[in-house]
Amino acid sequence: MNDIAHNLAQVRDKISAAATRCGRASEEVSLLAVSKTKPASAIAEAIDAGQRAFGENYVQEGVDKIRYFQQTGNTNLEWHFIGPLQSNKSRLVAEHFDWCHTVDRLRIATRLSDQRPADMAPLNILIQINISDENSKSGITLAELDALAEQVSELPGLTLRGLMAIPAPETSYDRQFAVAQQMAVAFEALKARYTTVDTLSLGMSDDMEAAIAAGSTMVRIGTAIFGARDYPPK
Ligand SMILES: *Cc1c(COP(=O)(O)O)cnc(C)c1O
Repeated sequence: MNDIAHNLAQVRDKISAAATRCGRASEEVSLLAVSKTKPASAIAEAIDAGQRAFGENYVQEGVDKIRYFQQTGNTNLEWHFIGPLQSNKSRLVAEHFDWCHTVDRLRIATRLSDQRPADMAPLNILIQINISDENSKSGITLAELDALAEQVSELPGLTLRGLMAIPAPETSYDRQFAVAQQMAVAFEALKARYTTVDTLSLGMSDDMEAAIAAGSTMVRIGTAIFGARDYPPK
C-alpha cells in the first residue's frame, strides 16, 4: 500500500470510529479529500484507493485537474470548489465543478446559475456561514441565512444542498462541539424547509470528532491524506 492509500484508510477509520462513538452510521459522513496544491499523480493514487470526491481551493488549478482526469477517462469523480470565489472566476467554477461550498452572496449565486451550462446537472451549492470568526470576510451570519437560501433555491442552474463553515480554531472539544451544534441546528431547520438539502460540510483534521458528533455529513481533509503542502494556502 502506498502512503496515500494508507493515509486514506486511516482517515476513513477515524471517521467510522467518530460516527460509531455517537451512534451514527459511518455512511452518513462522507470524506472530501482536499487536494489543493497537490499534483495529479497524488490524486490518481487516491482514486486508485477508492476516493471519488476532491476539494480544490484555487479555480484555475482545479480546472486543470478536472480537465486532466476527464481526458484520462475518470468521469465518475466529484469536484468540489471550496475556496473563496471572486465574481470574475465564477464562470470557470460553473462550467467545470460539481459543487461550490462557498456561496455567500446573491450576486455570485446568480452568476453561477446563469453561467451553468444547460447540458450539465445543476451546480450543487452550499451556503457558507461565518460561524465563529468575525475577522473573516467569507460567509454570512445565521441571521442572513433564510433570505439567501430562499433566493438560491429559486435559481434554475443551482441545487441548494446545505451549509458549510470553517470555524475558528478551538482546542477544546466542548467549544468545537458548541460551534458545530449551532451549525447543525441551522442545517436541520434548512433541511425541514428544502427537500434538496442533505449536506453539512463541517469538520477538518482537528475538529472532525466534534463536527461528526454534532451532525456533520461531510468532512474536508487534506494534509492527513496527501501530506503537508509545499506552499501555504493563499
Ligand atoms: C485546505 C482546506 C481544508 C483541509 O485542510 P487540511 O488542514 O489540509 O486538512 C479543508 N477545508 C478547507 C475550506 C480548506 O481550504
